[in-house]
Amino acid sequence: MSIATTIECVDVTWNPITGCDEISLGCLNCYAKKMSKRLFMMNQPKYANNFKLTLHEYELNKPYSWKKHRVILVNSMSDIFHEKVPLDFLLSIFHTMNNTSHTYLLLTKRIERIIELDSLLPWSRNIWIGVTIEHNKFIQRAEILKQSRAYHKFITFEPLLSDIDVFETNGIDWIIAGGESGHNSRLMEESWIRNIRDICILNNVPFFFKQWSGNGKKKVGRILDGKYWNEIPKFN
Ligand code: SF4
Repeated sequence: MSIATTIECVDVTWNPITGCDEISLGCLNCYAKKMSKRLFMMNQPKYANNFKLTLHEYELNKPYSWKKHRVILVNSMSDIFHEKVPLDFLLSIFHTMNNTSHTYLLLTKRIERIIELDSLLPWSRNIWIGVTIEHNKFIQRAEILKQSRAYHKFITFEPLLSDIDVFETNGIDWIIAGGESGHNSRLMEESWIRNIRDICILNNVPFFFKQWSGNGKKKVGRILDGKYWNEIPKFN
């Protein structure tokens, strides 16, 4: 998933699953797909299947080896709730998260699967579950997210492809937003990002602005109305 690996608070990524299938408008220029292809061309064994969904059982215990507390982005190279990920494998990932004290950030576009499995998933307090909403037509994903028993929830509006209607932020602990990057990036209007920022201010929700749309993060920048918006909630 294209969550902000560049957000300063993320210490490391953990990818017990790689590969995915496109499901939504935001998938068009998928970073994980491009990166998987590159690693496949470089003959990296982990990416021997290129972008085909692949489970890496040997990765399941990796967080136990990190002694100091870390903020871990889980499955940046896939979608953890992809329909082909078996429940047993998901439960093994949760087992590791439940038994280590790190903070885990999970992100999905397949929010319906969370609700389907929610009663079976052991949500410990160190797990944050997020949903991507890249276009207003998917705003309903926020309401579905709120139905989960997870303790901490966040939304990432990226790559932001439309204006977003006013939405209820109750139960949402963090909001990230940003434009698309890369050669084929789609345009994000300033007013779209400003509207989301203003909803966050009004409702006292931490807001992180990742970047404007365009090629080259440094070039396009990430200043909105004269300042950086780097708000990060307090993790465990
Ligand atoms: S769901 Fe995420 S990882 Fe999967 S294709 Fe779409 S953007 Fe890529």
